[in-house]
Amino acid sequence: MSKNSDVIDIYKSVVMPTYTPGVALMSGKGVTVSDVDGRKYYDFTSGIGIHTCGYGNPVIAEAIAKQASFLTHTSNIFVNVPQTALAKKLVELSGLGGKVFFANSGAEANEAAVKLARKYGSATGRYEVVTMRGGFHGRTLAMVAATGQAWCQEGYDPLPTGFAYADFNDLESVKAAITDKTVAIMLEAVQGEGGVVPATPEFMAGVRALCDEKDLLMIVDEVQTGMGRTGTMFAWQGYDVKPDMFTLAKALAGGLPMGALVGNAKVADVFGPGNHASTFGGNPVAAAAALAVINFTEKNNLPQKAAEMGELFMNALQELVDRYDRVLEVRGKGMMIGLVVDGDPKEVVNALQDMGILALTAGTNTVRFLPPLVLKESDLEDALEMIGDALENVYGE
Ligand SMILES: *Cc1c(COP(=O)(O)O)cnc(C)c1O
Repeated sequence: MSKNSDVIDIYKSVVMPTYTPGVALMSGKGVTVSDVDGRKYYDFTSGIGIHTCGYGNPVIAEAIAKQASFLTHTSNIFVNVPQTALAKKLVELSGLGGKVFFANSGAEANEAAVKLARKYGSATGRYEVVTMRGGFHGRTLAMVAATGQAWCQEGYDPLPTGFAYADFNDLESVKAAITDKTVAIMLEAVQGEGGVVPATPEFMAGVRALCDEKDLLMIVDEVQTGMGRTGTMFAWQGYDVKPDMFTLAKALAGGLPMGALVGNAKVADVFGPGNHASTFGGNPVAAAAALAVINFTEKNNLPQKAAEMGELFMNALQELVDRYDRVLEVRGKGMMIGLVVDGDPKEVVNALQDMGILALTAGTNTVRFLPPLVLKESDLEDALEMIGDALENVYGE
């Protein structure tokens, strides 16, 4: 018996079965994690896009410990200093000249964006938000409705109304979804859960132009793409557009729960006192962690590293596409990479885990890699050998 299976047995008996448990992890350092039996893995999930700065990053750990030692929480009835500094930093990084609302998760940050859009539209009787098929925005009831995919909506009727769906990367479809009730368009710059599908530059520019033309708010969900992962601090910065609002969460606070909605000047004062709130939002420990993440990301040029290492990674995967008939396509942006396969991607993820690499699935046919952005070339080479072996095991003759 391994400790792993002991822990998983207990877990299954007391935790609601919303997840399929993988290995039980004990510790992490840099780009690797160890399970409770002491087996080490490259973690190319980063805890689902969280650990851009690597596990056990001393800069982040120190910021958390220091802040925890003198003030863990104030509520938002009082002002806390790290939250204020973080908001200032996010506004500067965005260049949008607006303001920030803090939440605790991606779904909550998106929920805030949709509430703000409705408040904005209330004067003109508009409330509908157009979202993209294949998108993903979180698991609150409203975000499940925003997500517009049967697999996450089934069994939850009646869902909140006020969402309409369009095809991603198809501007005509977005135009057709707009009515006189529409107030916003919400999309990911690279669809993550939907299969690692980047928006085309034409599509992003087209959505921006439509929003300008019809006074709609453009909302970019950067929960998975943000904080350098796709080669720029925020993925929309890799396109020639500026959104009215964007949301952050996953990588923002280096492993602590935090979400943020960043809006431009047009929407900065749409919420008034009492219009929206979160007890923990902008918590000082999470904010201190996020400031450390941003500091480390900038000092170490992580967005540029993500672009460079992502290109090496994708080029190497392309060779595997050329080698195996059932490995169909590589796509992505920076260190957000999808490998499309002809078959169940879970088979490949399991083979990768046997080899010593943790990876994710996305959509119905995509293996997803979200490595820490601190990945070194030597580790990538090592990992690529394992990926080659795993694919040989699954798809070799
Ligand atoms: C993960 C994710 C969310 C949901 O974030 P939670 O923190 O799990 O609520 C929303 N949007 C995108 C694009 C995501 O990847």
